[in-house]
Amino acid sequence: MSPATENRLSSRALALALSEVESGRSLTREVACGLLRCDDYLLPQLLSAARTAKERFKPGVITYSRKVFIPLTNLCRDYCGYCVFRKDPGDAGAHTMTPDEVLEVVRNGERLGCTEALFSLGDKPELLFPEMRATLHRLGYRSTLQYLEAMCELVLRESTLLPHPNPGLLSPEWIRRLAAVSPSMGLMLESTNANLLQPDAAHDNAPDKLPARRLRTIEEAGKQGVPFTTGLLIGIGESIEDRVDTLLAIQQMHERYGHIQEVIVQNFRAKPGIPMQDSPEPTLGDMLRTVAIARLLMPRMNVQAPPNLSAPFYDELLEAGINDWGGVSPLTPDFINPEKPWPHLEQLRLRTEARGFQLESRLPVYPEFLPRVLARPGLLRDRVRAAAGEDGYARRAA
Ligand code: SF4
Repeated sequence: MSPATENRLSSRALALALSEVESGRSLTREVACGLLRCDDYLLPQLLSAARTAKERFKPGVITYSRKVFIPLTNLCRDYCGYCVFRKDPGDAGAHTMTPDEVLEVVRNGERLGCTEALFSLGDKPELLFPEMRATLHRLGYRSTLQYLEAMCELVLRESTLLPHPNPGLLSPEWIRRLAAVSPSMGLMLESTNANLLQPDAAHDNAPDKLPARRLRTIEEAGKQGVPFTTGLLIGIGESIEDRVDTLLAIQQMHERYGHIQEVIVQNFRAKPGIPMQDSPEPTLGDMLRTVAIARLLMPRMNVQAPPNLSAPFYDELLEAGINDWGGVSPLTPDFINPEKPWPHLEQLRLRTEARGFQLESRLPVYPEFLPRVLARPGLLRDRVRAAAGEDGYARRAA
């Protein structure tokens, strides 16, 4: 195929994308893949289409969640090739937080106006490590999820912060239990490509990353009506088609159950000491194209890209159609990407406003999902009601 033919096809695909979105129809897989491959000179048109879709359905506002990050335990039974967070027992830095440590972080966050306690932790480490079983036993719990549930409840009881757990795969029973102590929860789908579990691939030795198992957790949350955060991770060995298939799987899940509150587009960043330390990172162009396609496939969705993983290209992410910066902490580092500090919140505000948007602090549960959380009885409802302003974002200080 000559370059001229490729260019003509890409131009037509762009025109189709615009007309599809404007007429309220979804992009096809084929068109979405074509757009992800579009030439650089067509990228501004693609971003413009995505930005138009964003402004049509999510006008004016860019949100972020003012959070503290609580790495409840960094022991994990999986070994993802890109992970710098996980540790084995005995490794330098291996740690399971005590309830006092959790409360200390939460109280410091409260003083700085945070509204979210993001619990990040390894997936069921006690299944692999007797040391974790002993730690849990000392703390008075039988499983990491039981301990997490108790810590979410502690945060609800003792602070104004709202917990958002990210504990890995969950059974229907555990979704129900965690939903009683947190307004929302999350699990990255990452990729629908099961070949990433093959030897030497990113999810080699990461059984919890089997796409079918992750989709089951996301689906079960949908059946239970739990506001749910998910997304894809790009640059871990997946193809263009895999990126689109992952977005389509999320789109279909949301069409079926209406519970996906946000889609995160996260880019792999290489770090020393991880198995994938020499793997190429996705380019800024890859990232912008993927954000734009996420927006065009799901125009009404909250689409998030973490600012610290694309710094200093905030303007470009805004142009690609995001409407959320995700969790940004004035207190705790990004333990998942410790070498990439979060931007100063004032800096984020200035950069966001310079592009003509208003920056709003949101709760871990998005405004459109508040009614279903407020319908649940008990302390959770009371805490969420107290934390939310009339517009559904975080209540502003008087
Ligand atoms: S990415 Fe999550 S599941 Fe994978 S090794 Fe790290 S902590 Fe474990």
